Amino acid sequence: VIQFGQPEHSKITTCAYCGVGCGFKAEMKGNQVVRMTPWKDGKANEGHACVKGRFAWGYATHPDRITKPMIRSKITDPWREVSWEEAIAYAASEFKRLQAKYGKDSIGGITSSRCTNEETYLVQKLIRAGFGNNNVDTCARVCHSPTGYGLGQTYGTSAGTQTFKSIEHSDVILVIGANPTDAHPVFGSRMKKRLREGAKLIVIDPRKIDLINSPHIKADYHLPLKPGTNVAMITALAHVIVTEGLLADDFIAERCEEKSFHDWKDFVAKPENSPEATAEITGVPAEQVRGAARLYATGGNAAIYYGLGVTEHSQGSTMVIGIANLAMATGNIGREGVGVNPLRGQNNVQGSCDMGSFPHELPGYRHISDTTTRQLFEQAWGVELDPEPGLRIPNMFDAALAGSFMGLYCEGEDIVQSDPNTQHVTAALSAMECIVVQDIFLNETAKYAHVFLPGSSFLEKDGTFTNAERRISRVRQVMKPLAKYADWEVTQLLANALGLKMDYTHPSQIMDEIARLTPSFAGVSYEKIDKHGSVQWPCNDDAPDGTQTMHIDGFVRGKGKFFVTQYIASDEKVNRRFPLILTTGRILSQYNVGAQTRRTANSMWHPEDVLEIHPHDAEERGIKDGDSVAVTSRAGETVLHAKVSERMQPGVVYTTFHFPESGANVITTDNSDWATNCPEYKVTAVQVLPVTQP
Ligand code: SF4
Repeated sequence: VIQFGQPEHSKITTCAYCGVGCGFKAEMKGNQVVRMTPWKDGKANEGHACVKGRFAWGYATHPDRITKPMIRSKITDPWREVSWEEAIAYAASEFKRLQAKYGKDSIGGITSSRCTNEETYLVQKLIRAGFGNNNVDTCARVCHSPTGYGLGQTYGTSAGTQTFKSIEHSDVILVIGANPTDAHPVFGSRMKKRLREGAKLIVIDPRKIDLINSPHIKADYHLPLKPGTNVAMITALAHVIVTEGLLADDFIAERCEEKSFHDWKDFVAKPENSPEATAEITGVPAEQVRGAARLYATGGNAAIYYGLGVTEHSQGSTMVIGIANLAMATGNIGREGVGVNPLRGQNNVQGSCDMGSFPHELPGYRHISDTTTRQLFEQAWGVELDPEPGLRIPNMFDAALAGSFMGLYCEGEDIVQSDPNTQHVTAALSAMECIVVQDIFLNETAKYAHVFLPGSSFLEKDGTFTNAERRISRVRQVMKPLAKYADWEVTQLLANALGLKMDYTHPSQIMDEIARLTPSFAGVSYEKIDKHGSVQWPCNDDAPDGTQTMHIDGFVRGKGKFFVTQYIASDEKVNRRFPLILTTGRILSQYNVGAQTRRTANSMWHPEDVLEIHPHDAEERGIKDGDSVAVTSRAGETVLHAKVSERMQPGVVYTTFHFPESGANVITTDNSDWATNCPEYKVTAVQVLPVTQP
């Protein structure tokens, strides 16, 4: 419902959708937003915005918003509206009951990248200090957890190395498994501007993304590899660089661990890793791979931008490491115009990881088993912390089905729609005795919940988001919470009901606590963010105004470390029954599970998910554009409308995942990254057949 009128007041805030983190001016009339305009001084967007952000306010006051807490004993019972006091007391008593009956580790929590840094910090504090275990995880598990692992291992910290502005100094742009014009539109425009100015473009993607043939832009190389063969491709690129003498020898000698480099070099130089030897695996002609490698290594400042097409694989972490290897090997790290840049899908993926919402890490990426770090938090929180890492999200599901994980606090995350193999997820949720969902809408996960705590949208609370360039920006309350409390206050109520004292009166106090306990945030405060507009971490005594480019004089871990990247084929194999590979992605006008964008004007442009299929595969099956098709995998079946498209390569089909009705995750499987359990959304063997009319 769009209402216009003259604004009475306005505040600068930050978009709550993608990892670009655009600044907006929210203009208000009373408690109603009348307009959102891009903030011209916003450093992430410089006055630009996309079609998602402009209409984001539409969902905040949508009639579907739930504004009263609700409880029920069984999920088959109707919801009963109750007071906040009763809902919080019921949730706390249920969690206590479960721990008394099944043990301390029988409950846990999931937080979301849609939450602010302060909210995420509080959730992990509640789990660690209030529940007494480390069973806390975040939706970054299912998107960029391999980035955390891969960049942590090679460079020492899990973060993009550049500012967005850095691309203005790039001569070569290598895009791997990302679709910036759809998923990160404002940064995508910045990238297109640089390409129109003459920068060279290499795209590694199974699908012809828009960038490849935009007006006045043509990719110099498009390597349309088969889904699941990323690691063979990155190793083949490295092979060319090593065997053709294109290494940055001085950089490597000065900045990288010598033994690790030689081990890696010997490995990639093997003939079986050459573009010729791997062409059958990747499906890309060797000369194309050789040309792309030469361009990346010798074309000047070369920057890598990557997305979920890198991470959401059984070798997601290996691929992130392969990318980091490539940048070190060519000296493309530590100055403007170069670097390794994960394009974060959600507004606060970076922040939710920074804030310690993984089961093995306290805020600032410090392992829970480290005694010194643990003691720091124990002193600050007045509790003893468990030194053992807790359960990851998929482990929680498995434990629930085994009868040892019985209660879940889920804030801002719709795991039923967003996690793979929906049948497995719902079976696990059905096995639990108490699920507390805190969200703004009754989402798919809430169908399995016993307590519903109304959440608050980004317009109803104060806090911060951290975008893909480590930029911490303010989220400002422009309207009163529709359900009385902001999310951080709800978590605080639950903590106090469980006996963990929290008495914050404003999120700035939470950020002050984060800064006291986290070296890379030591210099961050609301005062500083307000003064500068935003600040990029690390921000501390060494970098009082923040850090634009990382790893300038040395890597966070000291010397950069190379790792061997051995390609291992996915377990998800095509055969006669499932002859096609399904891969997934986003579209411009919708955002993730669509809970927000489907309730805005954006639904005009993209009202359903469709299945893109190559004309050859369509014709073979008698499928025409617009036909209903059944998509069947080893996990399940769903029905979509077909979109016959030359963007696809034969043998590969593609869909988005924005609508619960289309159920993309009904067909994705449990395969996951070996290091982080990030699901392999990008490789599912399927059959596609026309739906026969009765
Ligand atoms: Fe900016 Fe992303 Fe929001 Fe679009 S969705 S306005 S690119 S932050």
